[in-house]
Amino acid sequence: MSGWVRVVGLGPGAAGLLAPDAAQAVAASSDLIGYATYLDRVTLSEGQIRHASDNREELARARNALSLAAEGRRVAVVSGGDPGVFAMASAVFEALEAGPLAWRRLDIEVVPGISAMFAAAARLGAPLGADFCAISLSDNLKPWSVLEARLRAVATAGLVIALYNARSQARPDLLGRAFAVLAEILPGGTVVAFARAVSTEAERIDITTLAEADPSLVDMRTLVLIGTAATRLIVREGAAPFVYSPRFVEASA
Ligand code: SAH
Repeated sequence: MSGWVRVVGLGPGAAGLLAPDAAQAVAASSDLIGYATYLDRVTLSEGQIRHASDNREELARARNALSLAAEGRRVAVVSGGDPGVFAMASAVFEALEAGPLAWRRLDIEVVPGISAMFAAAARLGAPLGADFCAISLSDNLKPWSVLEARLRAVATAGLVIALYNARSQARPDLLGRAFAVLAEILPGGTVVAFARAVSTEAERIDITTLAEADPSLVDMRTLVLIGTAATRLIVREGAAPFVYSPRFVEASA
């Protein structure tokens, strides 16, 4: 029996937001590899082996997955959300590129999941309805100077921004610095939303403005959405406002 690797996205948390193909890949695997928090979401059946690891060991985890598959194991590498969005899929291909040529003959597939930005956007309304981008604010993998230049560029270009990894324990002041950079370009009234642990029991949504955004409300389970000058609120009595970005954009910007 030949081995395989499925790089699987488990979605934002709720069982209903786990894609059937992802559930099937997990069920068909002999070995599950991933960060313990994500593996905890999976119910193992008899005989399945769990290889939990620390969040920082991504490359080692990816190599382990490929070498287990080369031994004939059926390996599911799990990530939250989508595996291609700041998650394990890139690590697997990085390991594949640097690894033994024989690994390139392995059966490897990426199984998509619902990324946090889509789950968060759906809760809010349609903040990503116009052109948007996703940025990871983690500075483990890129320097602040690069982050700052990208934030300036996308804010200037008028893109809605989905900020992942917005608050790292190592650098708690990073988000405040990011807001300060954006405030040099965007109006103070620009809509900002904090979507925490979307689709789980710990979900919490806060809608504010760039001028008033409080980074202390943000933790590692929060996605931060920053609108453009055109992003707006539909206020409702007795219910949270909807946030949306109109699809039409006027020339000039
Ligand atoms: N691959 C994942 C992202 C991994 S990076 C995806 O596609 O969603 C981890 C970051 O994702 C967190 O710091 C947080 O910003 C965001 N995130 C993951 N799950 C989330 C959820 N349920 N609600 C809000 N943000 C979430």
